[in-house]
Amino acid sequence: MKPASFEYHRPASVAGAVRLLAELGEDVKALAGGQSLVPMMNFRLARPAHLVDIRRLPGLDHIQRDGDALRIGALVTHHAVETAALGPDFAVLSRAMRWVGHLPIRTRGTIGGSLAHGDPTAEWCLLATLLGAVIVAHGPDGVREIPAEEFFLGVFSTALEPDELIVEVVFPRPAPRAALTEFAERRGDFALVAAAVDLDTDRIVLGGVAAVPLALPPVSGECGYSDTRHSRVADAVRDTPEASAHYRRGLVRTLVARATAEAAA
Ligand SMILES: Cc1cc2nc3c(=O)[nH]c(=O)nc-3n(C[C@H](O)[C@H](O)[C@H](O)COP(=O)(O)OP(=O)(O)OC[C@H]3O[C@@H](n4cnc5c(N)ncnc54)[C@H](O)[C@@H]3O)c2cc1C
Repeated sequence: MKPASFEYHRPASVAGAVRLLAELGEDVKALAGGQSLVPMMNFRLARPAHLVDIRRLPGLDHIQRDGDALRIGALVTHHAVETAALGPDFAVLSRAMRWVGHLPIRTRGTIGGSLAHGDPTAEWCLLATLLGAVIVAHGPDGVREIPAEEFFLGVFSTALEPDELIVEVVFPRPAPRAALTEFAERRGDFALVAAAVDLDTDRIVLGGVAAVPLALPPVSGECGYSDTRHSRVADAVRDTPEASAHYRRGLVRTLVARATAEAAA
């Protein structure tokens, strides 16, 4: 399959890219790793008239400690995070990358592209929600910071404006006792259900059970995965289209237990 024809643009700076996005209106898409956008264009699920190639923009490929925080540039690939020496504080990010597609996808796909795409089972969407990340977006009016809990609005829908570029993602605090695990029907597929756990904040985030990553905040007086939390999952999965809700609920229990064991280890 080939995409419909489009006009290709390659700006030299973030400001130039944002200017193009604003000028070209609704019919334009930024191109990063192309691992979601290009298949969608090939299947004619997306037919942008203009592509703004951001892959070579300078200044968006850093992985940098900033006090307690970790700052990751939007063009950093999944594989760069997988192989980075992040130390125990953020090792959860490296370990989680093994679940993202296959190696060729991980070497091209980017953190910014993954978050902008907004697939509710994508590992980056879960990790950003679990760890309270801040998504830094550059638009015509400057830079704004969007907390992950306000960023995901629905399946493939985010708070990002069409003329905004993600430039950086900030993970504000170490998460030495966090883990993500998942179940997919075939290796490399998107997860049917994914679970991420942070033992230090007692936060649990699930993918594959709702239109956005489902955060199960701590329940006062309870610790771990309780009946109260499971009833929230039961409500959320009742209307999921594929696989039975019963099956997904079973997966949730198993995966939360596995992620908890991995985080504790
Ligand atoms: C076979 C296969 C299996 C996969 N499995 C998984 C998986 O298990 N888990 C997973 O998470 N992903 C998976 N992916 C998707 C992969 O991770 C993509 O890399 C990712 O979803 C998109 O990143 P990208 O850099 O390729 O973005 P692109 O495909 O270039 O862009 C995706 C969308 O984001 C927008 N965009 C890109 N960068 C920015 C930016 N900086 N600011 C604003 N908008 C931007 C684009 O305009 C487009 O709408 C899979 C893909 C394939 C083909």
